Amino acid sequence: MNRLMDAIVKPIAGPGLELRKVPVPEPKAGEVLIKIHKTAICGTDVHIYNWDPWAAEHIKHPPMTIGHEYVGEIAKLGEGVTGLQVGQRVSGEGHLTCHRCRNCRSGNIQWCKDTVSVGVDRDGAFAEYVCIPATNVILIDESIDEDVVAFFDAFGNATHTALMFPLIGEDVLITGAGPIGIIAVGICKFAGARRVIITDINDYRLGLARNMGADVAVNTAKEDLTQIMREQGIREGFDVGLEMSGSEIAFKQMLSVMRTGGKISLLGIGNKPFTLDMNSIIGKGLTLQGIYGRKMDNWHQMLSMVQGGLDVSPVITHRMHYTQFEEGFAAMNSGKSGKVILDWTTKK
Ligand code: NAD
Ligand code: ZN
Repeated sequence: MNRLMDAIVKPIAGPGLELRKVPVPEPKAGEVLIKIHKTAICGTDVHIYNWDPWAAEHIKHPPMTIGHEYVGEIAKLGEGVTGLQVGQRVSGEGHLTCHRCRNCRSGNIQWCKDTVSVGVDRDGAFAEYVCIPATNVILIDESIDEDVVAFFDAFGNATHTALMFPLIGEDVLITGAGPIGIIAVGICKFAGARRVIITDINDYRLGLARNMGADVAVNTAKEDLTQIMREQGIREGFDVGLEMSGSEIAFKQMLSVMRTGGKISLLGIGNKPFTLDMNSIIGKGLTLQGIYGRKMDNWHQMLSMVQGGLDVSPVITHRMHYTQFEEGFAAMNSGKSGKVILDWTTKK
Protein backbone atom coordinates (compact mmCIF):
# COMPACT_ATOMS: atom_id res chain seq x y z
CA MET A 1 0.00 0.00 0.00
CA ASN A 2 1.72 3.20 -1.09
CA ARG A 3 -1.15 5.48 -0.16
CA LEU A 4 -0.55 8.55 1.97
CA MET A 5 -2.46 9.54 5.12
CA ASP A 6 -2.64 12.49 7.49
CA ALA A 7 -0.62 12.11 10.71
CA ILE A 8 0.37 14.33 13.64
CA VAL A 9 4.13 14.08 13.65
CA LYS A 10 6.99 15.14 15.93
CA PRO A 11 9.16 16.48 13.08
CA ILE A 12 12.42 17.24 14.91
CA ALA A 13 13.93 16.99 18.40
CA GLY A 14 12.29 20.18 19.73
CA PRO A 15 8.93 21.75 20.69
CA GLY A 16 5.80 21.46 18.54
CA LEU A 17 4.00 19.00 16.26
CA GLU A 18 3.11 19.07 12.57
CA LEU A 19 0.24 17.67 10.48
CA ARG A 20 1.96 15.79 7.64
CA LYS A 21 1.31 13.30 4.88
CA VAL A 22 3.04 10.01 5.65
CA PRO A 23 2.72 6.54 4.07
CA VAL A 24 -0.12 4.33 5.34
CA PRO A 25 1.71 1.60 7.32
CA GLU A 26 1.60 -1.99 6.06
CA PRO A 27 0.84 -4.64 8.73
CA LYS A 28 3.72 -7.08 9.09
CA ALA A 29 3.19 -10.76 9.96
CA GLY A 30 1.21 -10.95 13.21
CA GLU A 31 0.13 -7.28 13.02
CA VAL A 32 -3.19 -5.57 12.41
CA LEU A 33 -3.84 -2.30 10.57
CA ILE A 34 -6.42 -0.15 12.40
CA LYS A 35 -8.36 2.69 10.77
CA ILE A 36 -8.60 5.40 13.45
CA HIS A 37 -12.01 6.89 14.35
CA LYS A 38 -11.22 8.93 17.50
CA THR A 39 -8.11 9.68 19.55
CA ALA A 40 -7.55 11.37 22.92
CA ILE A 41 -4.64 13.55 24.02
CA CYS A 42 -2.66 12.14 26.96
CA GLY A 43 -0.32 13.97 29.34
CA THR A 44 2.52 12.05 27.65
CA ASP A 45 1.59 13.63 24.31
CA VAL A 46 1.74 17.05 25.99
CA HIS A 47 5.27 16.25 27.26
CA ILE A 48 6.20 15.34 23.69
CA TYR A 49 4.56 18.49 22.27
CA ASN A 50 6.36 20.74 24.79
CA TRP A 51 9.64 18.83 24.44
CA ASP A 52 10.42 18.73 28.15
CA PRO A 53 13.35 16.69 29.57
CA TRP A 54 11.19 13.52 29.63
CA ALA A 55 10.42 13.87 25.91
CA ALA A 56 14.03 14.67 25.03
CA GLU A 57 15.10 11.46 26.78
CA HIS A 58 12.38 9.17 25.37
CA ILE A 59 11.66 10.33 21.79
CA LYS A 60 14.74 8.98 20.10
CA HIS A 61 13.89 8.94 16.40
CA PRO A 62 11.95 11.93 15.08
CA PRO A 63 10.28 12.33 12.65
CA MET A 64 7.61 10.01 14.04
CA THR A 65 3.83 9.87 14.47
CA ILE A 66 2.77 10.25 18.13
CA GLY A 67 -0.39 9.28 20.09
CA HIS A 68 -1.53 6.11 21.86
CA GLU A 69 -5.14 6.66 23.02
CA TYR A 70 -7.59 5.64 20.28
CA VAL A 71 -10.56 3.71 18.99
CA GLY A 72 -11.04 2.52 15.43
CA GLU A 73 -11.79 -0.49 13.26
CA ILE A 74 -9.66 -3.27 11.82
CA ALA A 75 -8.74 -2.34 8.22
CA LYS A 76 -6.36 -5.18 7.32
CA LEU A 77 -4.86 -8.31 8.89
CA GLY A 78 -1.15 -9.11 8.52
CA GLU A 79 0.02 -12.59 7.57
CA GLY A 80 -0.85 -15.30 10.06
CA VAL A 81 -3.37 -13.27 12.11
CA THR A 82 -6.37 -15.38 13.09
CA GLY A 83 -9.43 -14.80 15.26
CA LEU A 84 -9.94 -11.17 14.16
CA GLN A 85 -11.91 -9.71 11.26
CA VAL A 86 -11.78 -6.59 9.11
CA GLY A 87 -14.42 -4.10 10.30
CA GLN A 88 -14.36 -5.07 14.01
CA ARG A 89 -14.31 -2.13 16.41
CA VAL A 90 -11.10 -2.07 18.42
CA SER A 91 -8.73 -0.20 20.67
CA GLY A 92 -5.23 -1.36 21.59
CA GLU A 93 -2.91 -1.88 24.52
CA GLY A 94 -0.14 0.65 23.91
CA HIS A 95 2.65 -1.34 25.57
CA LEU A 96 4.19 -3.94 23.29
CA THR A 97 5.80 -6.61 25.43
CA CYS A 98 8.26 -9.43 24.80
CA HIS A 99 6.10 -12.42 25.88
CA ARG A 100 9.32 -14.14 27.02
CA CYS A 101 10.54 -12.48 30.23
CA ARG A 102 9.56 -13.73 33.67
CA ASN A 103 6.88 -11.04 34.16
CA CYS A 104 5.34 -11.57 30.72
CA ARG A 105 5.19 -15.32 31.29
CA SER A 106 3.47 -14.83 34.62
CA GLY A 107 0.83 -12.55 33.10
CA ASN A 108 2.32 -9.32 34.44
CA ILE A 109 2.91 -7.71 31.07
CA GLN A 110 2.84 -4.24 32.69
CA TRP A 111 6.25 -5.12 34.15
CA CYS A 112 7.87 -6.45 30.95
CA LYS A 113 11.56 -5.51 30.99
CA ASP A 114 11.58 -4.85 27.21
CA THR A 115 8.42 -2.75 26.77
CA VAL A 116 8.04 -0.79 23.53
CA SER A 117 5.45 2.03 23.64
CA VAL A 118 3.16 2.99 20.76
CA GLY A 119 3.54 6.69 19.97
CA VAL A 120 6.82 6.96 21.91
CA ASP A 121 9.16 4.19 20.69
CA ARG A 122 7.32 3.46 17.43
CA ASP A 123 4.76 5.24 15.23
CA GLY A 124 1.56 6.08 17.07
CA ALA A 125 -2.15 6.53 16.53
CA PHE A 126 -2.57 10.26 15.82
CA ALA A 127 -3.02 9.31 12.17
CA GLU A 128 -5.63 7.86 9.87
CA TYR A 129 -4.12 4.38 10.45
CA VAL A 130 -1.91 2.64 13.01
CA CYS A 131 -0.32 -0.83 13.04
CA ILE A 132 -0.05 -2.90 16.24
CA PRO A 133 0.55 -6.59 17.00
CA ALA A 134 -2.66 -8.63 16.94
CA THR A 135 -1.97 -9.67 20.56
CA ASN A 136 -2.43 -6.01 21.60
CA VAL A 137 -5.80 -5.57 19.89
CA ILE A 138 -8.79 -5.16 22.23
CA LEU A 139 -12.25 -5.84 20.79
CA ILE A 140 -14.77 -3.19 21.84
CA ASP A 141 -18.52 -3.76 21.99
CA GLU A 142 -20.47 -1.52 19.57
CA SER A 143 -22.73 -0.39 22.44
CA ILE A 144 -19.97 1.72 24.06
CA ASP A 145 -19.60 5.43 23.19
CA GLU A 146 -16.51 5.86 20.97
CA ASP A 147 -15.55 9.15 22.66
CA VAL A 148 -15.10 7.20 25.90
CA VAL A 149 -13.26 4.30 24.25
CA ALA A 150 -10.85 6.87 22.78
CA PHE A 151 -9.33 7.32 26.26
CA PHE A 152 -9.51 3.73 27.55
CA ASP A 153 -5.71 3.87 27.79
CA ALA A 154 -5.88 6.57 30.50
CA PHE A 155 -9.01 4.98 31.98
CA GLY A 156 -6.84 1.83 32.25
CA ASN A 157 -4.20 3.69 34.30
CA ALA A 158 -6.99 4.91 36.58
CA THR A 159 -8.50 1.42 36.85
CA HIS A 160 -5.15 -0.21 37.58
CA THR A 161 -4.43 2.33 40.34
CA ALA A 162 -7.93 2.47 41.85
CA LEU A 163 -8.59 -1.28 41.93
CA MET A 164 -5.18 -2.27 43.33
CA PHE A 165 -6.68 -2.49 46.84
CA PRO A 166 -10.22 -3.40 47.99
CA LEU A 167 -12.51 -0.34 48.05
CA ILE A 168 -15.86 -1.47 49.41
CA GLY A 169 -16.79 0.74 52.37
CA GLU A 170 -13.37 2.41 52.40
CA ASP A 171 -12.55 6.13 52.59
CA VAL A 172 -10.36 7.06 49.62
CA LEU A 173 -8.10 10.06 49.11
CA ILE A 174 -7.07 10.90 45.54
CA THR A 175 -4.32 13.52 45.21
CA GLY A 176 -4.35 15.19 41.77
CA ALA A 177 -7.50 15.94 39.74
CA GLY A 178 -5.87 15.55 36.34
CA PRO A 179 -7.87 13.51 33.83
CA ILE A 180 -6.70 10.25 35.45
CA GLY A 181 -7.59 11.37 38.99
CA ILE A 182 -11.02 12.53 37.78
CA ILE A 183 -11.70 9.16 36.11
CA ALA A 184 -10.51 7.40 39.30
CA VAL A 185 -13.24 9.23 41.26
CA GLY A 186 -15.89 7.56 39.10
CA ILE A 187 -14.27 4.13 39.47
CA CYS A 188 -13.95 4.38 43.28
CA LYS A 189 -17.59 5.41 43.69
CA PHE A 190 -18.68 2.63 41.30
CA ALA A 191 -16.56 0.10 43.21
CA GLY A 192 -18.29 0.89 46.51
CA ALA A 193 -15.99 3.29 48.38
CA ARG A 194 -17.70 5.12 51.28
CA ARG A 195 -16.14 8.57 50.79
CA VAL A 196 -14.05 9.68 47.82
CA ILE A 197 -12.19 12.91 48.46
CA ILE A 198 -9.94 14.43 45.80
CA THR A 199 -7.42 17.25 46.10
CA ASP A 200 -5.87 19.62 43.57
CA ILE A 201 -4.84 23.26 43.39
CA ASN A 202 -6.79 23.85 40.17
CA ASP A 203 -10.45 24.83 40.71
CA TYR A 204 -11.50 24.05 37.12
CA ARG A 205 -10.36 20.44 37.45
CA LEU A 206 -11.86 20.09 40.93
CA GLY A 207 -15.17 21.09 39.32
CA LEU A 208 -14.84 18.22 36.85
CA ALA A 209 -14.08 15.83 39.73
CA ARG A 210 -17.32 16.96 41.45
CA ASN A 211 -19.22 16.24 38.21
CA MET A 212 -17.70 12.75 38.30
CA GLY A 213 -19.19 12.18 41.76
CA ALA A 214 -16.47 13.15 44.26
CA ASP A 215 -17.94 13.53 47.76
CA VAL A 216 -15.63 16.50 48.31
CA ALA A 217 -13.17 18.12 45.89
CA VAL A 218 -10.67 20.09 47.95
CA ASN A 219 -8.41 22.93 46.85
CA THR A 220 -5.56 22.35 49.30
CA ALA A 221 -4.06 25.76 48.50
CA LYS A 222 -7.15 27.32 50.13
CA GLU A 223 -8.88 24.68 52.28
CA ASP A 224 -7.93 22.54 55.27
CA LEU A 225 -8.13 18.84 54.42
CA THR A 226 -8.19 17.69 58.07
CA GLN A 227 -11.22 19.91 58.74
CA ILE A 228 -13.01 18.34 55.74
CA MET A 229 -12.11 14.86 57.03
CA ARG A 230 -13.78 15.70 60.35
CA GLU A 231 -16.89 16.99 58.57
CA GLN A 232 -17.04 13.77 56.55
CA GLY A 233 -16.69 11.53 59.59
CA ILE A 234 -13.24 10.24 58.64
CA ARG A 235 -11.85 9.81 62.15
CA GLU A 236 -8.82 7.52 61.86
CA GLY A 237 -7.54 8.63 58.44
CA PHE A 238 -7.98 7.44 54.86
CA ASP A 239 -7.98 3.70 54.24
CA VAL A 240 -6.80 3.93 50.62
CA GLY A 241 -4.73 6.63 48.88
CA LEU A 242 -4.32 7.09 45.13
CA GLU A 243 -1.41 9.43 44.38
CA MET A 244 -2.11 10.89 40.93
CA SER A 245 -0.38 14.28 41.00
CA GLY A 246 3.36 13.55 40.97
CA SER A 247 3.63 16.36 43.54
CA GLU A 248 5.89 15.94 46.58
CA ILE A 249 3.63 18.27 48.59
CA ALA A 250 0.55 16.21 47.75
CA PHE A 251 2.28 12.90 48.53
CA LYS A 252 3.52 14.13 51.91
CA GLN A 253 0.05 15.41 52.71
CA MET A 254 -1.37 12.00 51.79
CA LEU A 255 1.10 10.23 54.11
CA SER A 256 0.05 12.54 56.95
CA VAL A 257 -3.68 11.74 56.65
CA MET A 258 -3.56 7.98 56.04
CA ARG A 259 -4.93 5.58 58.65
CA THR A 260 -2.33 3.34 60.31
CA GLY A 261 -2.26 0.23 58.12
CA GLY A 262 -3.56 2.18 55.11
CA LYS A 263 -2.70 1.34 51.51
CA ILE A 264 -1.40 3.68 48.79
CA SER A 265 -1.21 3.21 45.01
CA LEU A 266 1.41 5.47 43.43
CA LEU A 267 0.76 6.49 39.81
CA GLY A 268 1.93 10.13 39.66
CA ILE A 269 5.40 10.69 38.30
CA GLY A 270 7.23 13.67 39.79
CA ASN A 271 9.56 15.75 37.69
CA LYS A 272 12.18 15.56 40.43
CA PRO A 273 13.17 13.19 43.29
CA PHE A 274 11.27 13.52 46.62
CA THR A 275 12.86 13.74 50.07
CA LEU A 276 10.93 11.72 52.66
CA ASP A 277 10.90 11.02 56.36
CA MET A 278 10.75 7.22 56.10
CA ASN A 279 9.12 7.05 59.51
CA SER A 280 5.97 8.59 58.02
CA ILE A 281 5.62 5.25 56.18
CA ILE A 282 7.23 2.81 58.63
CA GLY A 283 5.60 4.14 61.79
CA LYS A 284 2.13 3.83 60.22
CA GLY A 285 2.79 0.43 58.65
CA LEU A 286 1.65 1.76 55.28
CA THR A 287 1.64 -0.39 52.14
CA LEU A 288 2.89 1.44 49.03
CA GLN A 289 2.36 -0.01 45.57
CA GLY A 290 3.95 1.51 42.46
CA ILE A 291 1.66 1.41 39.43
CA TYR A 292 2.89 1.27 35.85
CA GLY A 293 0.63 1.20 32.81
CA ARG A 294 -2.30 -1.19 33.01
CA LYS A 295 -2.86 -4.91 33.30
CA MET A 296 -4.55 -6.72 30.42
CA ASP A 297 -7.33 -7.61 32.86
CA ASN A 298 -7.98 -3.86 33.36
CA TRP A 299 -9.36 -3.76 29.78
CA HIS A 300 -11.93 -6.37 30.76
CA GLN A 301 -12.76 -4.46 33.96
CA MET A 302 -13.23 -1.18 32.06
CA LEU A 303 -15.56 -2.73 29.49
CA SER A 304 -17.53 -4.42 32.26
CA MET A 305 -17.79 -1.30 34.43
CA VAL A 306 -18.99 0.83 31.49
CA GLN A 307 -21.52 -1.80 30.47
CA GLY A 308 -22.55 -2.02 34.13
CA GLY A 309 -23.38 1.70 34.23
CA LEU A 310 -20.16 3.59 35.04
CA ASP A 311 -20.20 6.85 33.05
CA VAL A 312 -16.74 8.42 32.74
CA SER A 313 -17.78 10.89 30.03
CA PRO A 314 -17.86 13.89 32.47
CA VAL A 315 -14.05 14.01 32.09
CA ILE A 316 -14.43 14.98 28.39
CA THR A 317 -14.21 18.75 27.97
CA HIS A 318 -13.20 19.23 24.33
CA ARG A 319 -14.16 17.50 21.07
CA MET A 320 -12.57 18.68 17.82
CA HIS A 321 -11.40 17.64 14.37
CA TYR A 322 -7.82 16.35 14.21
CA THR A 323 -6.77 19.29 12.03
CA GLN A 324 -7.44 21.50 15.11
CA PHE A 325 -4.90 19.61 17.22
CA GLU A 326 -3.02 22.84 18.12
CA GLU A 327 -6.18 24.04 19.91
CA GLY A 328 -6.39 20.70 21.73
CA PHE A 329 -2.82 20.89 23.00
CA ALA A 330 -3.33 24.52 24.04
CA ALA A 331 -6.38 23.42 26.08
CA MET A 332 -4.32 20.67 27.75
CA ASN A 333 -1.46 23.07 28.49
CA SER A 334 -3.87 25.65 29.96
CA GLY A 335 -4.92 23.31 32.80
CA LYS A 336 -8.55 24.10 31.88
CA SER A 337 -9.29 20.75 30.32
CA GLY A 338 -10.14 17.17 31.09
CA LYS A 339 -9.89 14.83 28.12
CA VAL A 340 -9.59 16.30 24.62
CA ILE A 341 -11.01 14.07 21.86
CA LEU A 342 -9.85 14.35 18.24
CA ASP A 343 -12.16 13.11 15.48
CA TRP A 344 -10.56 11.29 12.50
CA THR A 345 -13.79 10.06 10.85
CA THR A 346 -13.99 12.94 8.36
CA LYS A 347 -11.37 14.65 6.18
CA LYS A 348 -11.25 18.44 5.86
P1 NAD B 1 -1.95 15.80 35.15
O1 NAD B 1 -0.59 16.36 35.17
O2 NAD B 1 -2.94 16.28 34.14
O3 NAD B 1 -2.62 15.96 36.60
C1 NAD B 1 -1.91 16.13 37.76
C2 NAD B 1 -2.73 17.05 38.65
O4 NAD B 1 -2.08 17.18 39.91
C3 NAD B 1 -2.91 18.47 38.08
O5 NAD B 1 -4.30 18.77 37.92
C4 NAD B 1 -2.22 19.35 39.11
O6 NAD B 1 -2.85 20.62 39.27
C5 NAD B 1 -2.35 18.48 40.36
N1 NAD B 1 -1.49 18.90 41.48
C6 NAD B 1 -0.32 19.60 41.44
N2 NAD B 1 0.10 19.87 42.68
C7 NAD B 1 -0.81 19.34 43.54
C8 NAD B 1 -0.94 19.30 44.95
N3 NAD B 1 -0.03 19.86 45.74
N4 NAD B 1 -2.01 18.67 45.48
C9 NAD B 1 -2.94 18.08 44.70
N5 NAD B 1 -2.87 18.10 43.34
C10 NAD B 1 -1.82 18.72 42.77
O7 NAD B 1 -1.76 14.22 35.02
P2 NAD B 1 -2.68 13.00 34.52
O8 NAD B 1 -2.59 12.88 33.05
O9 NAD B 1 -4.03 13.03 35.17
O10 NAD B 1 -1.80 11.83 35.16
C11 NAD B 1 -1.66 11.74 36.58
C12 NAD B 1 -0.25 11.42 36.98
O11 NAD B 1 0.06 10.06 36.61
C13 NAD B 1 0.85 12.27 36.31
O12 NAD B 1 1.88 12.49 37.24
C14 NAD B 1 1.34 11.36 35.18
O13 NAD B 1 2.68 11.67 34.82
C15 NAD B 1 1.25 10.02 35.83
N6 NAD B 1 1.08 8.87 34.94
C16 NAD B 1 1.72 7.73 35.30
C17 NAD B 1 1.54 6.58 34.57
C18 NAD B 1 2.19 5.32 35.01
O14 NAD B 1 2.19 4.34 34.26
N7 NAD B 1 2.73 5.30 36.23
C19 NAD B 1 0.72 6.58 33.43
C20 NAD B 1 0.06 7.76 33.09
C21 NAD B 1 0.23 8.90 33.85
ZN1 ZN C 1 8.45 -9.21 28.75
